[in-house]
Amino acid sequence: MDSMYITPEHEQLREQISRFIAREVEPHAQAWEDAGFTPREVLRKMGAAGLFGLMYGAQHGGAEADALTNLVFAEALSQSTFAGFIITVLVHTDMASPHLHHTGTAAQKARYMPGVIAGHTITAVGISEPGAGSDVAGMRTKAVKDGDHWVLNGTKLFITNGVHGDLFFIAAKTGMNLANERHAMSMFIVEKGTPGFSVGRSLDKTGWLSSDTAELVFDNCRIPAENLLGEENQGFYSVMKNFQTERIALGAMAIGHCMQALRLTLDHVKTRQAFGAPLFDKQVIRQRIAMLDAKVRAARAYMYQCAWRVTQQHDVVQDVSLLKALTGELVNEVVHTCQQFHGGMGYMRGMPIERLWRDARILAIGGGATEVMLDEAAKRY
Ligand SMILES: Cc1cc2nc3c(=O)[nH]c(=O)nc-3n(C[C@H](O)[C@H](O)[C@H](O)COP(=O)(O)OP(=O)(O)OC[C@H]3O[C@@H](n4cnc5c(N)ncnc54)[C@H](O)[C@@H]3O)c2cc1C
Repeated sequence: MDSMYITPEHEQLREQISRFIAREVEPHAQAWEDAGFTPREVLRKMGAAGLFGLMYGAQHGGAEADALTNLVFAEALSQSTFAGFIITVLVHTDMASPHLHHTGTAAQKARYMPGVIAGHTITAVGISEPGAGSDVAGMRTKAVKDGDHWVLNGTKLFITNGVHGDLFFIAAKTGMNLANERHAMSMFIVEKGTPGFSVGRSLDKTGWLSSDTAELVFDNCRIPAENLLGEENQGFYSVMKNFQTERIALGAMAIGHCMQALRLTLDHVKTRQAFGAPLFDKQVIRQRIAMLDAKVRAARAYMYQCAWRVTQQHDVVQDVSLLKALTGELVNEVVHTCQQFHGGMGYMRGMPIERLWRDARILAIGGGATEVMLDEAAKRY
């Protein structure tokens, strides 16, 4: 066991995922990068293997596991060098579908959870907009009650799984006349194909190429009243709660990338010859790698501690904000240096280190930019 938090069951889960990545992901994922999305077939296989319902109720096919098990899952998945694949999965398991788990009614869960867990229904979450990302309360999308329907109008931007997803959890302003109008928003369940809901654009990105990202447009989109998710006007608070699960998963992605980048770089510098010896013989190179390894080990231990604190029902907002800031910056430091030690080959498309370098950049921006995370933590001092 490599940590006091890790059990034999966790080790088994890691091994199961490692085998899955080696067999089903790494040999095929370059084609997914070229296509711009991760195919449904691989997601269904993950669902069939029981990997999409770790935290969810047994009555829907879930495993009712705790936050540490879920972290083991996210970190093991992040041993893949294809972050587009990883984020496709983690948005489904840790960022979108938890909205249904946390605030869905029994009827909503009975209707949607089995498909979510089986991997037939892939989920997305729409919070960010062209005019508001970090400032969630600044969103402009509105939902107005009209009889037994809600009518949604607005645009969402940068939505992962937005092009190929089936089920969308959308945040919209609902309390236009309330005193707390800025924070009065609600979450809604919107099914693909609902009239008035469309994909405006599929977005072209620097990295995460095997993840599809969309602009979503709501033009007088009428959804049944029963698709309100959670309490009316309380959506801001459920978005903030959900961010904690999401940010631990993003931390796990960052740590996974760090570990892969260091592994690839050690392999490279131990074999690459320069000036009559392997690069590893240069003291500066091996010491820089060792120092990065020390930082990654420390951040990883902190990440497990954060997940353990979730299992103990502690308030984790400050810890998780610090973790997100730390890991989002650390992964960029690690991939930058690791790419440097690969020399010109590290700049070539098709090299895993080049992909990790491109894919890491967003980890300091998406799901809470570093500056926003540091302020969230500092507010609590
Ligand atoms: C590939 C990708 C996938 C995404 N997937 C999703 C998704 O599935 N669903 C979803 O809802 N959103 C998604 N996002 C949106 C993402 O969460 C936002 O991009 C992020 O929150 C930052 O918001 P913004 O882009 O509007 O930047 P802004 O809010 O405009 O901020 C720009 C920069 O200003 C700085 N900054 C902002 N606020 C502060 C502050 N208070 N103090 C100091 N500096 C500050 C930061 O450096 C920040 O990066 C995705 C984004 C990308 C690029």
